[in-house]
Amino acid sequence: MRDIRPIKFVILHSGTNQYKNMKKIIFAIVCALAVLPVSAQFNLNKAISGAAKAAKALTLTDEQMAAYVKESVDWMDEHNPVLPDDDPYTIRLKKLTEGVTDADGIPLNFKVYNVIDVNAFACPDGSVRVFSSLMDIMSDDELLGIIGHEIGHVMKHHSKNAFKTQLLTGAAKDAVASAGGVAAKLSESQLGNLSESLIGARYSQKQEKEADDCGYDFLKAHGKNPWGMVMAFEKFLKMEGENGGQSSYVQKMFSSHPETKSRIEAMTKRCNKDGFARPEE
Ligand SMILES: [Zn+2]
Repeated sequence: MRDIRPIKFVILHSGTNQYKNMKKIIFAIVCALAVLPVSAQFNLNKAISGAAKAAKALTLTDEQMAAYVKESVDWMDEHNPVLPDDDPYTIRLKKLTEGVTDADGIPLNFKVYNVIDVNAFACPDGSVRVFSSLMDIMSDDELLGIIGHEIGHVMKHHSKNAFKTQLLTGAAKDAVASAGGVAAKLSESQLGNLSESLIGARYSQKQEKEADDCGYDFLKAHGKNPWGMVMAFEKFLKMEGENGGQSSYVQKMFSSHPETKSRIEAMTKRCNKDGFARPEE
C-alpha cells in the first residue's frame, strides 16, 4: 500500500521591515518638505529622488526572476514527496510526455508529487509537477490535456507574471527590494509563500481561455489528442457537482460554471474542426 502523505507548507510571517521603513522615510521627507523654505526643498527633492530609486529596485531582471523561480521549485521538490524514477507513477508520466521536451524554447521537466491533493501546475522555468491523486482519477489523454493547459499558462507568461507579482507584493517583497541587482536568499516562510503562489495560481477567465487555446496548439503540435482537454474539464465539472469541489484544481480553475461550459464547447469545436476522434472513456 502506497504511503500517501498530505502536502505541507511552512508558512510563517517573519520577514524584515525594510520596505515599511523605507516608506516611513519617504513619508517623513515629504512631511519635512511641507514646512521648509524653497531653498532647502531643492536638496530634499534630491533625497526623495534617491528614495524613489530605491523603490525602483523592485523591478526585477530576468536573471533575478530565474533565480527566484529556481529557488522556489527546488524548495518545493525538497519539501514534497517526489516519486523516484522507477515508481510506476513516474514511469507513466515519463511515457506520456515522451517527446514533449520544450515549450517555446523553455526546457520542460516533469515530476510526480505523492500527495492526496488533486492538482497539477507548471512553473515559469518549465517545471511541471503532477500530483499522484490527479493521476489516479485521470486517463492518459485527460492528464495530457491538463498538462497541455498548464504549459499554455507558461507559454503565455501567465505563470511568470503571477510569480513576479507575488515576489513584489508577497512575503518576500522586503528581501527582494533590499537585494539590489542579485537574487536574495529567501527564508523558509518566504519560499513557502512563493511556492503556494506557484501551486495555487489563480488566473482570469481570459487567461484560462488563452491557456486552453495555447495548450490545444501545443498538444496538436506534439501529435497528442487534444480531446483530452475536453474530457478532463468535463470530469472536473462533474467532480464539482459531486462535492469534489474541494480539489485544489477544481477551485483554481472552475470559478464560474457558464465560463467552464463555454470553454468546453470551444475546445470541442476545435477538436471536431480538426478531425480528431474522441478517445474511448
Ligand atoms: Zn488554468
